[in-house]
This record gives sequence, structure tokens and C-alpha cells, in this order.
Amino acid sequence: MHKIKLSLVIQLISVLLLLLVPIQLSGDTIAPVNITEAAKEDWPKIISQLEDAYNRYPNNPEIKNSLANAYNNYALVLATQKKWSSAEKYLQQAVQTNPTNTAIKQNLSAVYFSHAYDLYQNYPQTSYSSSSYNTAKQLVNQAIAANANNAHAYILLGDIENANQNLAAAAKAWQRAAAIKPSIPGLQERLVRVSRDASAEANMNTKYNMFFIIKVDPEVEKLAGFDINEALDSTRIHVSNDLNYTQNIKIPVIVYTVDNYKESVPDAPSWSEGAFDGKIRIVLTKYKNNIALLKSTIVHEYTHAVIQDLTNGNIPRWFNEGIAKYMEYKYGLPPRINYLAQAFNSNNIIEWDKINDAIVSPNVNLAMLAYQQSFNFVYYMVQRYGMSKLRALLDLLGTNMAFDTAVLQTYGVPLTTIQRNWQLWLPDFIAQWAEAPVPAIPDA
Ligand SMILES: [Zn+2]
Repeated sequence: MHKIKLSLVIQLISVLLLLLVPIQLSGDTIAPVNITEAAKEDWPKIISQLEDAYNRYPNNPEIKNSLANAYNNYALVLATQKKWSSAEKYLQQAVQTNPTNTAIKQNLSAVYFSHAYDLYQNYPQTSYSSSSYNTAKQLVNQAIAANANNAHAYILLGDIENANQNLAAAAKAWQRAAAIKPSIPGLQERLVRVSRDASAEANMNTKYNMFFIIKVDPEVEKLAGFDINEALDSTRIHVSNDLNYTQNIKIPVIVYTVDNYKESVPDAPSWSEGAFDGKIRIVLTKYKNNIALLKSTIVHEYTHAVIQDLTNGNIPRWFNEGIAKYMEYKYGLPPRINYLAQAFNSNNIIEWDKINDAIVSPNVNLAMLAYQQSFNFVYYMVQRYGMSKLRALLDLLGTNMAFDTAVLQTYGVPLTTIQRNWQLWLPDFIAQWAEAPVPAIPDA
């Protein structure tokens, strides 16, 4: 009686074994190799049959391996659907069933990593966002525990520590990654930047804020009439309200002296008053007694931070700068339009397909014109279509849609039409603006 049952089970298993080779991922991350085929199988049914067989014949190595492989394969199918906790549960069972299979452990590590990365990328949209950094960090540590050679997990761990301004911990994690796989794109740049940051920030003071992680050079604190907390709080309230934005992440803010800034952001143009690269970096220039300019720069860079969060960086540079300047116009110093007026009168408006290059031009006059033109275009768009449309456009860009397509979908007219209408509207605007000139302040 028993013998008959066993042969039946073995027959069933030998058929299943054909497809129960464990899928192994090619790298440290999930790539859909072989998973498309595997997704066609009825894994819950296969697993339940194998579990039955395994309960009856716990010492049969073929059944045991097949069951572990079935858990593994089903987990990877679930992982491609981002059903992370189920995928992790099945992979843990796979490891338990067959603890000697290193491929399965590597897969478990890759799934923990991908889950962490998904959280890290998308936390602003999640409801438990305030703790998502910690959850991502915990998952990344689990990824490392399952596979100590998962270099991508170390990189992500470093990114998480860096975003929390734990520079020493970030450097340590990235060094581990470099010891495993030094050629991963972006890794060496991270190491260079973190060592620069650590030295520039060594003597800075930390200031507490609910929404920002603030580092300030002691010299900045001597500035009369300037309180970094106050400046950031009022900026956040105004800009996030305008863009209907909820800030769920703590943004690092570093306020430098001129020398420290040059050391930390060596490629910033000489006229730069600040930068945003995931961290808001503000510099006290020769205008350091101009508190209004300092506050305006904070509005500008904070706007970049919001735009980054909404669009994941999928936005043309000129348009990004135009919105930052528009927020300065509302809550900081109104941008000048002298270069724009001149260019208009001499028929030298920058062609739209050349404006991204102009924004970063070493030719200061051209760069300033590009900023003024971008600002003015955004100003026109908001006057004409309203702020909520602009926010809708940013949301579409956040889905990785191309800029032209997103504009057409949001405004119902092609970008080129809006650009043509802007140019027709421009002369009246220049005439008006000239009647009420603003104080001469350099653009940031
Ligand atoms: Zn900018």
C-alpha cells in the first residue's frame, strides 16, 4: 500500500522536477530572467502537492529540493509583482527547507534589497512614510545578512545613511560596496562626495527642525536678523501650500561659508548662491549681509527639493529653474528681467531647444538670460492656466511621462503653442515690468 503511493508521488515529482530548477537572479537585484515562464505555473497548487509529499516522505532529498525550489520560484514571481512580504515569506521557507542552497539565499537577499529600494524610491507616496527610512534600512540589513556580498545593498545602505546626514556610516557602507564591486556606476563619485562633505561639515553646528536636518557654519549664526529655522519653516509653508505638497521626508540643509562651499561643491558656477543635489546647500557670499537674498535662495533651493520629490527628477532643467525663480518671485526677491527685455528688443530670445544648455553656460550673461526667460515662461503659464495645472503637470512628470506629452495632456495644447503665445504676450509684460522696476539684486 505504501509502496504504491510512493511510486505515484515520485512519478508526480519527476514531472514537476523539469520545471523546478531554482530560478537564480543574475545580479544583486531582481531581473525578470526566466520569471515570465515561471509566472504561467500554478504555484500554490504545486507547492501544496509538494508539501503533502514532503510531510509523508521528509527524508526524500528530491522532494525536499523540489519543495524548496517551488517556494523560491513562486517567491520570485511574487517579487516581480512587488508582493514583497509574500515573496519574503516563501523565500524564508525555501531557505528553511534547503539551507545549503546558496542561490536561494542570494535570491532572498535580492528580494529584501528590491523591497528596500522600492520603499526608498517611493516613500513620499506611502502612508507610513515617516518610518519608511527605518523600514528600508532594516530590509537592507536583512539583505546583507542573507548575502554579505550584495554590493547594491551596501550602496543603498550608504544612500539611506547619507540622506540622514550620518556621513561616517554612509562612507563605511560605500567602502564595503567598493571592496566587493568597485566598478558599480556612481559608487566612486559617492565616496568622493562624502569625504568632501565630511570635511566641510566637520565644524558645523546641528540645528533641530521637524522637517529638515540642518547643519550651519558657526559664522552664519553670527548673522543678525537671520534664523535658519524660521527661514526654512516659512519657506516650507508657502511653497508646499502653493504646490499642494506634503513633505513627508526630512531634507538635509547645509549652510556654508564661501570657502567651505567651494570645497564641498567645487563645480558650482561662481555666481551660484546655492545648490540642490538631494541636499539643500546654501552659501553666504559677499552679499552675506543681504538677508533678503539669503532667504530668497532658500526659497529657490527648497522649490527644487519639492520638484525633485514630485517628479523624481523627470523635468527639463530650464523648467525646474523657472519654477524655482517663480517661487522666489512670490516669496523671496522678484527676479529681474533686464536680460530678457534686452534680448526681446534685439530679437535674441533663446530658442527653446537651446535653453537647457544656456542655463548651465559659463557665459554669465547667457545663463542669466536663460534663467529670466524660464522664470517668465512659468510666470506666464501660472497667470494663464493657474497653479493647480502646474501641479498636475508635475504629477504627470512623476509618472516618467515625456515633458511635451505631459504638457499636452495637462493643458490640452502643445508646448510649442504655449511658447508662441508667451512670446506674443511678452511685450506687454516687459512694458509693465519696466514701470515698476525692482531693486538691482543679482540672480541666483
Ligand atoms: Zn536653481
